Amino acid sequence: MRLVFLGPPGSGKSTQAQAGAARWQIPSISTGNLLRDAIAAQSDLGQQAQTHVEAGELVPDQLIVGLMRESFGSPVTQNGWIIDGFPRNLAQTQALDTLLQIMGQPYGQVVYFETPEDLLVERMLKRGRQDDSEDLIRQRLQIYNEQTTPLIDFYRRRQCLIEIDGSRPASEITDAIAAALQPLASV
Ligand code: ADP
Repeated sequence: MRLVFLGPPGSGKSTQAQAGAARWQIPSISTGNLLRDAIAAQSDLGQQAQTHVEAGELVPDQLIVGLMRESFGSPVTQNGWIIDGFPRNLAQTQALDTLLQIMGQPYGQVVYFETPEDLLVERMLKRGRQDDSEDLIRQRLQIYNEQTTPLIDFYRRRQCLIEIDGSRPASEITDAIAAALQPLASV
């Protein structure tokens, strides 16, 4: 199972990545969590990423691609994974293709969580993470709309996009993802 979870901030992809990881016994690689851990530890990466994360901007591609390269180098990612939070722009999409090619890993499916913007803002305000103030939420949504939404069409054209309604309750989404993947797993 090799899955990329794509969707706006607040669409619940992290929650679903954790559920999927437990269900299929594969690691979930969350760039947001990895960055927050790096910032808490004040590692080199954390120090370089901090101002960007706190400003609600994308961290430079080169840092994120380095982080992903490290994750793919780990033995636990050899037999499957769920990536949550990457790629977020077309350059990162190309970097992912290249990394998979280098690792000799096949391409997986992209699960897209389609979710209305009002609901995203409501969920994130409730979550109350440090970068979840109303201003920063609007900023992250704007960046998502500008830089990440082109990936939807990109993967749709590649015929590996699975579209899920992200507005439903979490447990229903988990079931919908499993149901959508079932016929593919048996191929
Ligand atoms: P959300 O999806 O709610 O924005 P994440 O935890 O996925 O939350 O990401 C938090 C922050 O981490 C982003 O606002 C951004 O600064 C940074 N980040 C995460 N993934 C990437 C990425 N692929 N490219 C650049 N920056 C990223």
